[in-house]
Amino acid sequence: MRPRAMRPAAAWLAGAAGAGFLAGVLLTSAPRPAPVVPRQLLTPPPVSAPTIGTNPVEELRKRHLALPLPDLERGDLRDTFDEMRGGTRRHEALDIVAPRNTPVLAVEDGQVAKLFLSKAGGLTIYQFDPTATYAYYYAHLERYADGVKEGDRVERGQVIGYVGTSGNAPPDAPHLHFAIFKLTDAKRWWQGTALDPYPILSR
Ligand SMILES: [Zn+2]
Repeated sequence: MRPRAMRPAAAWLAGAAGAGFLAGVLLTSAPRPAPVVPRQLLTPPPVSAPTIGTNPVEELRKRHLALPLPDLERGDLRDTFDEMRGGTRRHEALDIVAPRNTPVLAVEDGQVAKLFLSKAGGLTIYQFDPTATYAYYYAHLERYADGVKEGDRVERGQVIGYVGTSGNAPPDAPHLHFAIFKLTDAKRWWQGTALDPYPILSR
């Protein structure tokens, strides 16, 4: 981030002698040593690049993601993120009850990173957001939408699968298990930190 921030200023300095003094002031006054300031605040902000918010939930809320099922109201959602499953494991997802074969919609533009069959999740989709910062996870699908494959670009609202009970969902309770992960810098579909989708989708 630092070299990127320096380069435009350096070019500016070289190209416009009159502006050199101002640029010099900006550059020398930006990284002030202050031991008590949190680490992320010590990094000088990029000159003009769009910033990734420091609070991922707030950042995603601002994107006004689509809901993953049609005919669903934001007020219908229930926060099941902190519920315990299997006695020891936090759920870290939303369960959204819907009839079997209800279309499942991409909540944002992005890319299908992985179609994965897991014991618990059954037929699942890991979709990256357009910046590959977040992964949206859709599980217990009855089936994938025709033609959907790994690497596909998808659009917000596009049908990518159908609600079902694959994996460990009760056969008489079809629902979509929906999760959001903040990916690591390595951007691997199986590595990330779960974010509660409820405050993101419910408003
Ligand atoms: Zn679930």
